[in-house]
Amino acid sequence: MVHLNENYLKLPGSYLFAEIAHRIAAFREANPDADIIRLGIGDVTRPLPPAVLAALHRAVEEQATEDGFRGYGPERGYSFLVSAIITNDFESRGIHLDEDEVFVSDGAKCDVANFQELFAEDCIIAVTDPVYPVYVDSNVMAGRAGFLQDNGMWSRLVYLPCTAENGFRPSLPEQRPDIIYLCFPNNPTGTALTRSQLQLWVDYAREQECLILFDAAYEAFITEPDIPHSIYELDGAREVAVEFRSYSKTAGFTGLRCAYVVVPKEVQARTADGTRHSLNPLWNRRQTTKYNGCPYIVQRAAEAVYSPEGKREVRESIACYMENAAIIRKGLTEAGISCYGGVNSPYIWLKTPGEMDSWSFFDLLLSRLHIVGTPGVGFGPSGEGYFRLTAFGSRDNTLSAMQRIRNAGHWSEWTSQRF
Ligand code: PLP
Repeated sequence: MVHLNENYLKLPGSYLFAEIAHRIAAFREANPDADIIRLGIGDVTRPLPPAVLAALHRAVEEQATEDGFRGYGPERGYSFLVSAIITNDFESRGIHLDEDEVFVSDGAKCDVANFQELFAEDCIIAVTDPVYPVYVDSNVMAGRAGFLQDNGMWSRLVYLPCTAENGFRPSLPEQRPDIIYLCFPNNPTGTALTRSQLQLWVDYAREQECLILFDAAYEAFITEPDIPHSIYELDGAREVAVEFRSYSKTAGFTGLRCAYVVVPKEVQARTADGTRHSLNPLWNRRQTTKYNGCPYIVQRAAEAVYSPEGKREVRESIACYMENAAIIRKGLTEAGISCYGGVNSPYIWLKTPGEMDSWSFFDLLLSRLHIVGTPGVGFGPSGEGYFRLTAFGSRDNTLSAMQRIRNAGHWSEWTSQRF
C-alpha cells in the first residue's frame, strides 16, 4: 500500500474554529432567541468596490469576443497588473522592482504555505508567537517542525514570544534560525513595527544570512507615518526578504482571490556544498510547474484597485473598518479592558480581564453578552490570556456589540459570576 506523508498525521485537527463553532452551536441550542454578534471573523463584510465590479464585468464581456477571449495566461501574472503593482505599491514609495520580481497568485495563504517548498527539510524556522497558523502548519507538513510538545510548541521551531511585556514586538532570536516569518501589521495582535524596529530584523538577517518571509497582507490598514508598508523601504532588505501581499482584506477579494509575492533577484539560498542560488528563478520554476495563473478577469479586477475611483473606494472601505476598530477600542477601554492593535490593523487584541484564560473569556462573552471573538491561545501558547476581535463586522453589529459591553458596565461587574 502507498506510504503516507506521515507529517500530515502530526497535525492536530483544526481545533480552534471547530471548537468555536461547537460552543456557539451548543449555546444557540440552549438559547434559540439569543442575537449573537460575531466579531471573531477574519473575513470582510463590505461588498466589492464599484470600480472593481465594473472591471470584472468588462473583462467577462471580453471573453465573449474572439479578440478578447483569454485562455491560459502567464503563470506569473499579466503585465498590466504587474506594472500597476510596481508603479502604485512600490515606486510610489521609492522602491524599484523589475517585472520579473513580482508573481501574481490567487492568495497569500497559498503563497506563504507554498514558499517553504524551496528549502531543505533541515532548515530551522522561527515564528512569532502568537502566529497566523499557516506558517507553522505548512512547515509541519514538510517535516520541518519536529513533534508537538505538551506546551503546545513544535520541537524544531524557534518561537519568538509577543506579549504585552514586550509590546508584542519579538526580540531577536537567541538561536540562529534559517528562515523567519514576520507578519506586520500583525494578525492576530494588530501590532505594527516602526522603520527602525523592522530595520533591526533586516540587519540581523543580513549578518546571520537568514531569510525573512515578510507577510504584509495588512499593509493597507496602516495609518501612522513611521510604519513601513513594504520591507523594501528598509536598507538591505532586497538581499534577505521575500514579501507577500494580498487584495483580500485591502479590497474585499477574499472570495475573488488575488495576491502577489515579491522575490528580489538578490535573495539567495545555498546548496549543501555552499553554492549560492537566487530564489527568484526557483520560485518561477515552481509556479510555472504547479500553478496556471490567476484568472484574467480577476487580474483585471485587481488592476482596477489602482484606478483613481478604485483607490478612493478602497480608501473609504478601509476607513470604515478602521472606524469600527476605533469603536471597539473605545468600548473596551471604557469597560476597563486593556486592548492593543486596531490603529494600523483591523485586529484588536485584548488582555482577558482578571487573569481569565482565553477560552473562559470566550464562554463568558458569549453567554453574558452574546458576542463571539477568537481565543488568543488558538494562535499559539503566548496567546493564552488574550482574545482577538476584528473590525471586519458591519457597523451596526460593531456598535451593538460595544453597546452591550457599555451597558454591562465595568468588566468586574459582568465577569464576577463565573461559569
Ligand atoms: N496572511 C495573513 C497574516 C492573513 O491573516 C491572511 C488571511 O487571513 C492571509 C495571509 C491570507 O490571505 P489570502 O486571502 O490572500 O489568502
